[in-house]
Amino acid sequence: MPRTVSRVSYGSRGADLVVVSVSAPPERRAVPGRGPVVVLTANVHGDECTGTGALLRLLPLLEAQLTQGTVHLYPSLNPDGLERRTRRVPEDDQDLNRQFPGDAFGSPAERLAHAAWTDLAARRPDVLIDLHADCPGAVPYVLLDRAVSLRSTARTELEAQARTLAAATGLTVIHEYPDDRYQRFRLDRSLTGAALNRLQIPAITIEAGPRLVLDPDAVDLAVRGVLGVLGQLGMVDGGAPVVAPSVAGGPWRRESGPRASTTGVLVPRVRPGQPLARSAVVAEVRSLAGGLLEEVIAESAGFVLAPAERAHVVPGVAVCTWATAEVA
Ligand SMILES: [Zn+2]
Repeated sequence: MPRTVSRVSYGSRGADLVVVSVSAPPERRAVPGRGPVVVLTANVHGDECTGTGALLRLLPLLEAQLTQGTVHLYPSLNPDGLERRTRRVPEDDQDLNRQFPGDAFGSPAERLAHAAWTDLAARRPDVLIDLHADCPGAVPYVLLDRAVSLRSTARTELEAQARTLAAATGLTVIHEYPDDRYQRFRLDRSLTGAALNRLQIPAITIEAGPRLVLDPDAVDLAVRGVLGVLGQLGMVDGGAPVVAPSVAGGPWRRESGPRASTTGVLVPRVRPGQPLARSAVVAEVRSLAGGLLEEVIAESAGFVLAPAERAHVVPGVAVCTWATAEVA
């Protein structure tokens, strides 16, 4: 079955979001009926294009291999940001990923969020996967939101469903910040946060690759991660053999890394993904003359999830994003 392309208009510039849909042809379906509906989104942050590359690569794969259900692909939810190479929505410098479900009469970012949300919600997805990029050197990972708006049993069930899909990516699974910070940071208004809390469907975020460039290995990881989930859902045969550098142990939770207390050159002492005990030295701060000003110490056991994108720090700056043990 050929791909179906539709367009969603938004904002004042008359630009469109592009949506490409692929359904398993009837003769290929093992089970009659509609099958699972999956929404794949990318480039909510305009400078994070791994997902865009992954969706473009997935399109012909899905046309050839989808045996069940329908996949709706949104290769860029922030096309102006993609064009301008900016994380935020250029028109108002807002983070699109804190605006969902958006507002038809709000700011440009809120209107864009509303247009995207209204379109994807109308497609009645069973699962949503949003593709992002963290930074060069980061461990590729899959991020789990918190269903803070749901009552206890429903919350436990929905979060377990999301966890199962996350595991199927083959990537290291990281839980979001604890509930209080999760809400304070408006993460329930991220796309996956809103999908979980409002649509009440399992939703996961894949973080792979550097920003601004299509790194072929990162695109490959993201493609394999998505195929792993589609395999888990019975939509492609057998899933994909995922070969990803998954960090053993866990469950893990995202945490702000230890902070520098001096000013100087930030020199990492460990590699991302390397398991570390509490009090291990994560990085050092040195003067330009080479003097050791500070050793920055891990406050808990865990590992560096993503290095800070900087080579100079001042007191109070986190030297990395950290992964620590999630307390069940
Ligand atoms: Zn992002």
